[in-house]
Amino acid sequence: MSEWINWKDKRPAAEGKGPFFHWWRVGPVANTGTSPEWIGKMAFCGMGYAESEYWPEFSNWNGYQRTVPALTQWKPLTNADQEMVARLLKQGVPDCSIETRTVVYPGIDLDKCPFCGRLPRVKFRPRYIGACVKDSEEFTIECCLPDVRRNTLPDAAVIWNRRA
Ligand SMILES: [Zn+2]
Repeated sequence: MSEWINWKDKRPAAEGKGPFFHWWRVGPVANTGTSPEWIGKMAFCGMGYAESEYWPEFSNWNGYQRTVPALTQWKPLTNADQEMVARLLKQGVPDCSIETRTVVYPGIDLDKCPFCGRLPRVKFRPRYIGACVKDSEEFTIECCLPDVRRNTLPDAAVIWNRRA
């Protein structure tokens, strides 16, 4: 795995034909209890400034300038990641679902499902349509047991691990 790169030091190159997917993280996100990492797309924002026209989809436009959270970091996809993204796109999976399918929550340890022995899935509800991992609310942990649903991921994890 390559190292994380600070967005403020260096932006990913967006040359040639997209779409441009990378790993992203934006620092601690309170309701997750960690700093989530996910694969997300850079979108063409067409502001007319060269170099800054491709931005991550979670960037903010305030009517004057476009920004990303101060701690935003990125790293390139591995070959295996690229193959997975290509496969999902071919299946018609929308960009935002690629984020939610690839998000990992480092340090949130979930016990394996006692029925099937697999790790449970974590789903979140976006705060608004098109919101990404950093604007999530209400986390659901699901597998063979009844779903666990809480407003924060650490709370949901405690309940899941108590049952599993
Ligand atoms: Zn299961």
